[in-house]
Amino acid sequence: MAFQIAEHLALGHASRLLAYEVLARADAGRPHTAEAAMAKWLGPKHAAEAIHTCMLLHGWSGYGDDQPYAQRMLDVMGLEIGDGTPEIMKAIIAREAFGREYTAYK
Ligand SMILES: Cc1cc2nc3c(=O)[nH]c(=O)nc-3n(C[C@H](O)[C@H](O)[C@H](O)COP(=O)(O)OP(=O)(O)OC[C@H]3O[C@@H](n4cnc5c(N)ncnc54)[C@H](O)[C@@H]3O)c2cc1C
Repeated sequence: MAFQIAEHLALGHASRLLAYEVLARADAGRPHTAEAAMAKWLGPKHAAEAIHTCMLLHGWSGYGDDQPYAQRMLDVMGLEIGDGTPEIMKAIIAREAFGREYTAYK
């Protein structure tokens, strides 16, 4: 259990640092389109995985109403979908990496 929690702490920390980098770039007037799409994709994805782990670690009580994880999962999936789904974020990242002329979506 401790190792699973340690992994999520590390990945959550990485997601948070990426979000801070996006904000710092925006504040400095530097390009941040790809980084913002990375943060929008990675943060909710990792959060959903962490909640999934929490549910499994708690067994039945994590699945049922005893714990708030089912609602947390819905909440974070709302963040995954709203303001651009994972596929749209990845399309933006690929567009920024390869150039508009090499991507399906301009
Ligand atoms: C909690 C929540 C709050 C919201 N709040 C607001 C709000 O305040 N204001 C507002 O205007 N909207 C809001 N929305 C709507 C949200 O922005 C849209 O649901 C979201 O942009 C996805 O659009 P869609 O539902 O039409 O799905 P679709 O665009 O139909 O997507 C369905 C699936 O197809 C995939 N897909 C779509 N296009 C492509 C593509 N080109 N390439 C690859 N895959 C693709 C998507 O990734 C997804 O998996 C909210 C949604 C949620 C869940």
